[in-house]
Amino acid sequence: TGSLAETDSEVAGALARELDRQQSTLEMIASENFAPAAVMEAQGSVLTNKYAEGYPGRRYYGGCEHVDVIEQLAIDRVKALFGAEAANVQPHSGAQANAAAMFALLDPGDTILGLDLAHGGHLTHGMRLNFSGKLYNVVPYHVGEDNHRVDMAEVEALALEHRPRLIVAGWSAYSRQLDFAEFRRIADLVGAYLMVDMAHFAGLVAAGLHPSPVPYADVVTTTTHKTLGGPRGGVILSRAEHAHKINSAVFPGQQGGPLEHVIAAKAVAFKLAASVEFRERQERTLEGARILAERLLRSDVADAGISVVTGGTDVHLVLVDLRNSDLDGQQAEDRLHRIGITVNRNAVPFDPRPPMVSSGLRIGTPALATRGFGAEEFTEVADIIARALTSAAHDGDTHDGGTDADDLRRRVTALAERFPLYPHLNDPARQ
Ligand code: PLP
Repeated sequence: TGSLAETDSEVAGALARELDRQQSTLEMIASENFAPAAVMEAQGSVLTNKYAEGYPGRRYYGGCEHVDVIEQLAIDRVKALFGAEAANVQPHSGAQANAAAMFALLDPGDTILGLDLAHGGHLTHGMRLNFSGKLYNVVPYHVGEDNHRVDMAEVEALALEHRPRLIVAGWSAYSRQLDFAEFRRIADLVGAYLMVDMAHFAGLVAAGLHPSPVPYADVVTTTTHKTLGGPRGGVILSRAEHAHKINSAVFPGQQGGPLEHVIAAKAVAFKLAASVEFRERQERTLEGARILAERLLRSDVADAGISVVTGGTDVHLVLVDLRNSDLDGQQAEDRLHRIGITVNRNAVPFDPRPPMVSSGLRIGTPALATRGFGAEEFTEVADIIARALTSAAHDGDTHDGGTDADDLRRRVTALAERFPLYPHLNDPARQ
């Protein structure tokens, strides 16, 4: 019956420090966001206690009358949000959603086409050590060496040569829109299913600021915690003809009891994603990424060997290309970490450095847009990042006795303080 602080000071202490980290630094990991208080309230609720194997109206446990209402709300809302014929809201994560979707459509040993991990794809699109790479015969496609955009001519040639049963379109580190109609045409050419994993850009699609894959794909998977800004979890949208197979692939195929507390939080997030405020936030997300790309393409930054993959962005992230810079991805990530900006290093296509070091940074704007940042603040953040990555004297003394890094850290702190995050959680009585 005791509070967390009374029951477990070690977990409570680390949690308090994590809250402080989120509040006092600038979060620019492209796959992260800040869930609204209402989403966290639903997720931290009594629904965590409930077993509900099955689906609304067809459960294997008693006492499901209220979770049925909640799960049906989540299903109806996400179908309406994306204009989908069917939805399964039970996958525990994006990886689980992809596993279940593939399990529904494929047999082990079938051939799939997916974007190479080293060119921006996701682990679950066929990486060697992932279930997808182990269960299926994976043929990776790539981005072009000249323009770093997905090479649709190669996708077509590989499809004709290997006759895949499934083509996966989607990405984790790519800054442009995919041509879903062209993917559909190629899938039809060889009789393949088309699955689009929109985990990264689902929020943009929901806001009508990115083309929707739903009219083109047999199945669309997504996470709910990236641009969508909901709880950590997954969803599978599909055409009605695949709904039965997908439901049975999720339960009993892959999972046992659904996380109804997370499903409640998903329902809340889908409601919010249909709002005017959500669209306005996604507009600022896109604007922030465009500003960041522009500022990192300026000549003084280019002089330090720094560039932006594809020369810009259409989405919520920028891929910084450090192949010609003295800084590698690890060093660049560390520099930004030191001044209070969190990003992740990432391989760029045709990266000469090993993946653990890499020659790129993936920098995203969703979390800061959620925090309230607009054009002015994104310009300031972009200038701070540019300065941190180009300054030869980053750690050395400057005229005023501090270091360049100290000065940048002060500018980061000033921004963080202007946009308080979860202020209600600072009051221990509310935690
Ligand atoms: N699909 C894509 C495109 C992703 O980028 C990610 C996460 O990074 C996932 C799936 C997996 O999501 P999760 O981490 O929830 O398993």
